[in-house]
Amino acid sequence: MNLTTDRGLSAHGEPPQPRGVQLLNDPLLNKGSGFTDQERDALGLRGLLPPRVFTIEEQVQRSLGSLRRKPNAIEKYIFLTALQNRNETLFYRLVTDYVEEMVPLIYTPTVGQACLEYGTNFRRPRGLFISIRDRGHIAEILRHWPHEGARLIVVTDGERILGLGDLGALGMGIPVGKLSLYTACAGVHPYYALPITLDVGTDNEKLHEDPFYIGLPQKRARGAEYDAFIAEFVDAVRAVFPKALLQWEDFGNSNAFRLLHDYRQKLCSFNDDIQGTAAVALAGLIAALRLTGGKLSEQKLLFLGAGEAGTGIADLFVAAAREEGFSESEARSRCWFVDSKGLVVKDRGDRLAEHKLPYAHGHPFLPTLTDAVKALQPTALIGVSGTPATFTQEIVAEMARLNARPVIFALSNPTSKAECTAEQAYSWSEGRAIFASGSPFAPVDLNGTRHVPGQGNNIYIFPGVGLGALVSESREVTDGMFLAAAQTLAKLVQPEDLAMGRVYPALTKIREVSLGIATAVAEAAYSQGLTARTRPVDVVGDIRTRMFDPRYPSYV
Ligand code: NAD
Repeated sequence: MNLTTDRGLSAHGEPPQPRGVQLLNDPLLNKGSGFTDQERDALGLRGLLPPRVFTIEEQVQRSLGSLRRKPNAIEKYIFLTALQNRNETLFYRLVTDYVEEMVPLIYTPTVGQACLEYGTNFRRPRGLFISIRDRGHIAEILRHWPHEGARLIVVTDGERILGLGDLGALGMGIPVGKLSLYTACAGVHPYYALPITLDVGTDNEKLHEDPFYIGLPQKRARGAEYDAFIAEFVDAVRAVFPKALLQWEDFGNSNAFRLLHDYRQKLCSFNDDIQGTAAVALAGLIAALRLTGGKLSEQKLLFLGAGEAGTGIADLFVAAAREEGFSESEARSRCWFVDSKGLVVKDRGDRLAEHKLPYAHGHPFLPTLTDAVKALQPTALIGVSGTPATFTQEIVAEMARLNARPVIFALSNPTSKAECTAEQAYSWSEGRAIFASGSPFAPVDLNGTRHVPGQGNNIYIFPGVGLGALVSESREVTDGMFLAAAQTLAKLVQPEDLAMGRVYPALTKIREVSLGIATAVAEAAYSQGLTARTRPVDVVGDIRTRMFDPRYPSYV
C-alpha cells in the first residue's frame, strides 16, 4: 500500500499513510466515492462510504450538475471551495475539464465578490494569516504549516485587491485563488502551495465598523513598523522554506514597487501585478500586430492609470522595443500616461511618484483622457485605472477615426471596473476594435459578425512562469523571463484566434500555454546560470512529466 502522490517537483519524504476517516479528511488524498473496493478493504474504509464505487468522470458530472443548480456565482464559489477542501483531485479535474466555465468562478470576476464576503462565508481556513501582532514569531507560524517544504507562496497584505481597494484580511481570497490557478493551469502540485495574508490592519473604515470583520480592525501599519514586519517575514520564509518561490500579490503601489526592488535578489520572487500583467498585455500587443501590421516599436501606447499594472506594461514594452533596436529613450517616448490628475508630463506641478518619472515627457498638460487621445493619436489605449466607464463613446470613436484597427484593452478587474465593455468597444468602433479585457466578456454579434474578446489576464502568464522557475530551481525570476513569456504567449495565438479578433489563445489551451512559457523560463534559467540544476536534455519533456495531472493514483 502506498499513498504517495506524485508531487513532480522533487523527491520528497514519504508522506504519512492515513487510513479510515483520517484518509477521507485529507483533501489531497481523498477520493470519496472513488475509492475502489480493494482500497476500501485495505485502508479501513468499508462502511464509511456508501457501497457504490464511482469513477472520477462520474464524480465530475455529479459535481457539475450540483454546481450548475446553484443560483448565483457566489454560491458556486462556495460550492467549489467546499469541494476543494474535501477532494482536491476531483476539484482540479472539474476545473481543468471545464476551465472556461470554472475560471470565472474561482477567479475574476467572482473572486472579487468572494473577497468582499470572505468573512461571512468563512468556513475552513486555508493558508496562513500572519498579523502585525505576530512580530517576533513569524518563523514559528510558518512552521505551523502542515506540509513540509512549501515551494510556492502567494502573499498579499490586502491593500489593493483587484480594483476593489483595501480589503485587509478579506484579501485572502486572492492568494487562494491564484494558487488554485497554478495547479489547474500549470500543474503545480497543490501540496506545494501556500497562500499567506499579512494582516497589517486596514484603512478601510467600513471594515473597522463591521463587528464580524475577520482581520485586525485598526489602521494600517506603515513606515518603519511595516518595513520591519516585512523584513522579518522575508527572513522567516528564507529560513523555513528555502526553496520557495514567492509571488507578491495585490500590495498597494506605495509598497509594491519597493518590495519587489528590495527583495527580488534576496528571495526568489516576483510581483504579478507589475510583471505578470506586463507580460500578458505585451503579448496581446505583439499578437495584435499580426492584424494591424507594423512593428511593436512603432506603436504609441496611451495608458489610463499609472500604477503597478500600467508602468509595468510600459517597462516591458520598452525592453521589447529595445530588442527591435530602439534606444531606451525612443521606446519610452512611445508610452504616455493619464492618471487621476490628467496627462503625466514633466511640469505638471505635483510631485510625481518615482515609477511615473520615466514617462513624464515634455508636453503641455492635458486634463482629460479625451484631450490626450486627440492630441497624442495613440495606436493603442490601455485601461489599468480600476475605474469603469472611462473609455467613453467619444474616446473609442476617436480611436477608430485615428486607426483602421484601434487596440482597446480594458484590463481593470473585476468586470464592474472594466473601462468599457466588449459590446461598447465593438459597437462604438464599427466593429474594428481589437479588444481585450481583464475579466471575461461574452462574444458580441454585430452586423452579422461575431467578435470574440480576448481575456488579457495574467492567468496566461504567472502559472507558466512559476512552473518554469520551480522546475528549473531558478534563483531568480528575471525581467527577461517575462519578456520571453510574453513572446511565447504571442506565438501561441493561432490564426483562427485572430480571425475572431482574439489576441490570446483559447483558455482551453491554458495547460499547453503554461507548458510553453515554463519551458522558455526554464531555458532562460539554465542558459543564464541561474540554477545549480543541470539542464535536462529534453526540457519540455522534463516539465511535462512534472505537471500535476488530476487523476486518482492507486493506493493498493
Ligand atoms: P494601482 O493602484 O497601482 O494604479 C491605479 C492607477 O490608476 C493609479 O495611477 C491611479 O492614479 C489611476 N487612476 C485611478 N482612477 C483613475 C481615473 N479615474 N482616471 C485615470 N486614472 C485613474 O493599481 P494597478 O495594480 O495598476 O491596477 C489597476 C487595475 O488594473 C485594477 O483594476 C486591476 O484589477 C487591474 N489589473 C488587471 C490585470 C489583468 O490581468 N488584466 C492585472 C493587474 C491589474
